[in-house]
Amino acid sequence: MTTLLAEQHAVRLAHAEAHAASHRLALTPLRRQVYAAILASERPIGAYELLDTLAPERGRMPPTTVYRALDFLVAHGFVHRIESKNAFVACCEIGVPHRSQFLMCDHCGATVEIPGDELADQLSHSAPAHGFEVHRQVIELSGLCALCARAAKPAGAQT
Ligand SMILES: [Zn+2]
Ligand SMILES: [Zn+2]
Repeated sequence: MTTLLAEQHAVRLAHAEAHAASHRLALTPLRRQVYAAILASERPIGAYELLDTLAPERGRMPPTTVYRALDFLVAHGFVHRIESKNAFVACCEIGVPHRSQFLMCDHCGATVEIPGDELADQLSHSAPAHGFEVHRQVIELSGLCALCARAAKPAGAQT
């Protein structure tokens, strides 16, 4: 990890801690470690991968322990669940209520959160016109990130 990335993670972790403190949310040592591991992961990370990542610090934990920590982090907006991968990413704006869309690279797994209620609102408002009752709304787009798209182009290609 580069120093710059490590600094960004430290800033985001501090922000999450401050948010938890000001809202009386119990960011226990385990929840904090799970959050930090999700933050440090370059792509969405699943519960079992988190168990492996945390094993050196915490020893072997039952999966339910990590699932409970994840439930807390999702419920309070620290992380989002990527439904199609059953994995988790750190939220880009903790403390600001929002709905999000996700751009996910099929090649490297990089995932970008695009917060914004407009598209989600539009969809949930148009569903009833079709007599459809929405229970769960997930907007996840798969494709190639800028780096992978560039790498996939034949050398010398202009566009
Ligand atoms: Zn978010
Ligand atoms: Zn990529």
